[in-house]
Amino acid sequence: MRRAALMVVSVGMVVGLATRAPGLGARTGGGPRPPSVPAGTGTVSGGGRGQLQVSFLDVGQGDAALVLTPDGKSLLVDGGPGGAGPRVLEALRAAGVGKVDWLVGSHPHEDHIGGLLHVLRAMPAVQVLDPGYNHGSATQQTYLSLLKQCGAQTTLARAGQTYHLGPGCRLEIAAPVDPLLAGTEADVNNNSIVARLVFGRTRFLFTGDMEEQQRKLLLGSAAAVAGVLPADVLKVSHHGSFNGTDAPFLRAVAPRFAVISCGRGNDYGYPHRDALEALRKQGCQVLRTDEQGTIRFTSDGERVRLEGVPTAPQGESTPTGRNVGAGGTRGTGGGAARPVVVPNRDSRTWVIGNRDSRVYHRPDCGLLPAPVRRVMFVSAAQAETNGFRPHRDCNR
Ligand SMILES: [Zn+2]
Ligand SMILES: [Zn+2]
Repeated sequence: MRRAALMVVSVGMVVGLATRAPGLGARTGGGPRPPSVPAGTGTVSGGGRGQLQVSFLDVGQGDAALVLTPDGKSLLVDGGPGGAGPRVLEALRAAGVGKVDWLVGSHPHEDHIGGLLHVLRAMPAVQVLDPGYNHGSATQQTYLSLLKQCGAQTTLARAGQTYHLGPGCRLEIAAPVDPLLAGTEADVNNNSIVARLVFGRTRFLFTGDMEEQQRKLLLGSAAAVAGVLPADVLKVSHHGSFNGTDAPFLRAVAPRFAVISCGRGNDYGYPHRDALEALRKQGCQVLRTDEQGTIRFTSDGERVRLEGVPTAPQGESTPTGRNVGAGGTRGTGGGAARPVVVPNRDSRTWVIGNRDSRVYHRPDCGLLPAPVRRVMFVSAAQAETNGFRPHRDCNR
């Protein structure tokens, strides 16, 4: 049964991607028709200057990501647990958001939609993507009734759909499939909305709390065939739990940056060391909200830049050997001897790793590695998360 359903989705997937229409709400064959967005609804200052901005908010144990599109639309992917609601609202207001243009509630667990209750009591959402999984919790019931009260148009997110968020910017849905998965270890997690945000040549993959069964299905699915999985930035599924990530999936996504959203000293032991090990083996740079707070990326459509980390001079690399600032293109080597510091975050904390020795240094160390060997980290903690150890002379 499940296989037959997947075949239908496969066709829809290919059609949906192949017939990407201009404007909002391109749709797939047979899926629910996404409503269009009223014109002139933008209220946001936006990512600014043609930039897309993606912030993984520090919401403690939970997930929340705020996206500001270049033309001033807001997309909120999850809203953290109930206790983080005020913080999420504050982030929206600080960005000049008066209403959430697009809201994705990945799945109805409290650590993903709990904070949205506070947000929706303060400002409306215009378009909402929902997996359509009935969890039956009081939090979900309140969430759905708040959506109704604020006049949001709710659409079932299904694999194969593409939503156009503005010029050059779209959201591709890779999961869930129709019908939803049933009988897995945690159906609520395994029917998470998995969506890839694409701006120009840059890609961000959001995975909710997807577990093994959904991940395996996704890997063999039309989404994989259509190439919807590769991304520059991966929001690691399920807060870095042991069942959220594995090597085949990471190979398919091949992210340069992996973001783990979890609470400091959380009761679940997230992130799990097997997940960290898989990420390390894949060679992506791991970033954690419990260590670094909010993690922000910007994209100009060509390259993704991690804020708070110095822009890499030509030839400097991430642990994968690819340039930090380049959208998949390799530098020509050489370049400036000293990195340029991005001033908008505490630049005193960043450290420079040597990708061969896997030792990291303070920026003022006299024994910095050659530019071509450098790997930049926003903090010593992040360097250590990535398996680097401190240089004794400069880290006393
Ligand atoms: Zn969760
Ligand atoms: Zn969950």
